[in-house]
Amino acid sequence: MSLESATRSLTRWFDDGGFAADLSRRIGYRTVSQGTAHRADIDAYLAEVVVPELTAMGFTCRVLANPVPGGPPFLLAERHEGGHRPTVLTYGHGDVVDGQDALWSAGLDPWTMTERDGAWYGRGAADNKGQHAVNFAALREVIAARQGSLGYNVKVLFEMGEECSSPGLREVARAHEDELRADLFLASDGPRLVEESPTIFLGSRGSVVFELSYSARETALHSGNWGGIVANPAVVLSHAISGLVGRRGRIEVAGLLPPEIPEDVRTELAALPIDSAHLGRRIDEDWGQPGLTPAERLLGWNTLEVLTLHAGDDAKPVNAVPGTARAHCQLRFVVGTRWDRLQEYVRAHLDAAGFPEVEVRIVRGSPATRVSPGDPWVRWAKTSIEDAMGRPPLVNPNLGGTVPNDVFAEILGLPTVWVPHSYPGCRQHGPDEHLPVAVAREGLAVMAALFWNLGVTDPITAGGAGARGRAGSADGPVDSTTGPAATPG
Ligand SMILES: [Zn+2]
Repeated sequence: MSLESATRSLTRWFDDGGFAADLSRRIGYRTVSQGTAHRADIDAYLAEVVVPELTAMGFTCRVLANPVPGGPPFLLAERHEGGHRPTVLTYGHGDVVDGQDALWSAGLDPWTMTERDGAWYGRGAADNKGQHAVNFAALREVIAARQGSLGYNVKVLFEMGEECSSPGLREVARAHEDELRADLFLASDGPRLVEESPTIFLGSRGSVVFELSYSARETALHSGNWGGIVANPAVVLSHAISGLVGRRGRIEVAGLLPPEIPEDVRTELAALPIDSAHLGRRIDEDWGQPGLTPAERLLGWNTLEVLTLHAGDDAKPVNAVPGTARAHCQLRFVVGTRWDRLQEYVRAHLDAAGFPEVEVRIVRGSPATRVSPGDPWVRWAKTSIEDAMGRPPLVNPNLGGTVPNDVFAEILGLPTVWVPHSYPGCRQHGPDEHLPVAVAREGLAVMAALFWNLGVTDPITAGGAGARGRAGSADGPVDSTTGPAATPG
């Protein structure tokens, strides 16, 4: 059996409606994780869908209660072939955001899958049910093609609370660090950079939200009686903000900037189609850090955004000097930024600029991660996909947004490769969420190639990423006693 024949068989199953039926059944579970109203569906999705499908593939499954009281459960699963073999850890989430049932277009419903214009509509189609359905189907086919012997071990960490900020995920990863030990993290979530290009991403930017406020007095004062003799907090706050971020969006606080973009990251960014035509929206060429390309500004650098800006009553302006002004700002940042010292840097900057009265408060934050594009596993994944698909994937060093990748990259210390099976227009988290049929179909072939090649050779046993098997070059079963055959390519 070859990769080509495994992929043919998968594609036949897909074209005969097998995947659509599988996805449709998943979408029928209303696995909304915010609040507790849908806890029965959350539990049923694990018990009736995920546990049976993994058990049938030879996994041992264990459902874990969330260490955070009231949080949704986790699933740990393991398919063990041998201690000397490489181990891949994968991940998915079965929960979804609210259905927003009333907001969907006519004829569409979040809980009943509908095919329309080459896409499957339904809540979770793209985020994340369609994506883990692709991965489990590809894995099942490769197991069958290899007569039950993959040549490596597979572990699964599956959660049901991603859409409510993954409560308990970090605690579970720490508590089960030994059980989750692996050589590679490989999973799917988020969008491709553009619909037609297979993409891998290697981490995500981090985010920290902070509040700036100036409370001058407990009440607003008549602007005719007091204007000109009392300070206006909205004016002061505007000037304070303008010292942090310039007229054209450039960050003015040195401590909030990242280190120089590494050369290998810069090289990958240069190949990415980040422009108005590909994004379908005009981008501002003169915004952000001068001297950087749009891809570097979006994915290789930090941005400081003002999320909210408030003083007085916007709906009913009165002639008064407001007593208080407040803004929420957000720093999106790449690896290497000292975001843990943000409060200190912003405080020092405001003091030096003459704004000791403006207060700084951190609201929330999550770290940035990024595996080096030169990592052997990254090059292995890139070559595997290129060999199978006839074109290289786009390599995005990190998502512009944030996924809980620090759990895998930092707590578990793994090289992380994400292979998204969605696209930027998928409307995840909004009404009319959908998954293009073509993206799912191609995703199956991409994942089959990766799951196949893991059993042929891996960059570690092959002694470096340069020496590795080519997709489809290994006919016949993998040696079951000495581990994956190292086939120099
Ligand atoms: Zn989501």
